Amino acid sequence: MDEQSARKLIVEIGKLMYDKGYVTSSDGNISYRLEENVILATPTQVSKGRMSEDMMSLTDLDGNALNDKRVSSEIKMHLLIYKMRPDINAVCHAHTPHGTAFAAAGLSIDAPILSEVILTLGCVPLTAYGTPSTSELTDSLKPYVEHHNALLLENHGVVAYGKDLWQAFDRLETLEHTAKIAILAKILGGANDLPKDAIEKLINIREKAGYLTEAARCQACRYLEHTDIKCSLDAESVNNGNSNGAKISFTREELIELLAQAANIR
Ligand SMILES: [Zn+2]
Repeated sequence: MDEQSARKLIVEIGKLMYDKGYVTSSDGNISYRLEENVILATPTQVSKGRMSEDMMSLTDLDGNALNDKRVSSEIKMHLLIYKMRPDINAVCHAHTPHGTAFAAAGLSIDAPILSEVILTLGCVPLTAYGTPSTSELTDSLKPYVEHHNALLLENHGVVAYGKDLWQAFDRLETLEHTAKIAILAKILGGANDLPKDAIEKLINIREKAGYLTEAARCQACRYLEHTDIKCSLDAESVNNGNSNGAKISFTREELIELLAQAANIR
């Protein structure tokens, strides 16, 4: 997509985000990868409902300004996602009320209650709180970016990303809609989980249809642990939430020593 079309679409998506109540005041930000090392992003301190095409900031992947429009302070989160995911070209960050309610309550969106969500979005994990605009926030996202397409930011908001601007926005919308349904179902006495075999069928369908890749099998996701769906990607790149995604490697000698110690504990 050329720069002018991208500017136009960011303005349009900003209006949608504002009109749907996903952001208030100057909350939230949207960005698009124009070239490998050129990011077009919403500026700081502007309502997403009142933007114009000429307002947008340009930065490189390290956050260095490429024009005179000051970029959103939360650009670091976007840049981390672009660096870790070459397949991603657009990021939407918002404080959607229902998604953010999950994030404030310390909950992930990972119950297998809606077939369409398993097909198109997968699980949305909760990432630990980090001060907005600092590396605290990006550090806590790192373990999850690779296998998920949307994240909850504890006591803050949500972020969704995709191959283009519409896919990023659609994922944000699906996240928010799912959170809303989960909260309503809770009021009605609680949603029923889909059975294990139904989840497995949905995961196979989503890969055949190309909605999500096999990488999504490695999501930090409560229900995946109870199915026969296994993550077959490199074990080192697997983030299972419990380990917080920390990568640990041992030499052969260290591993033998550890195993020997474990055997002696009994
Ligand atoms: Zn925010």
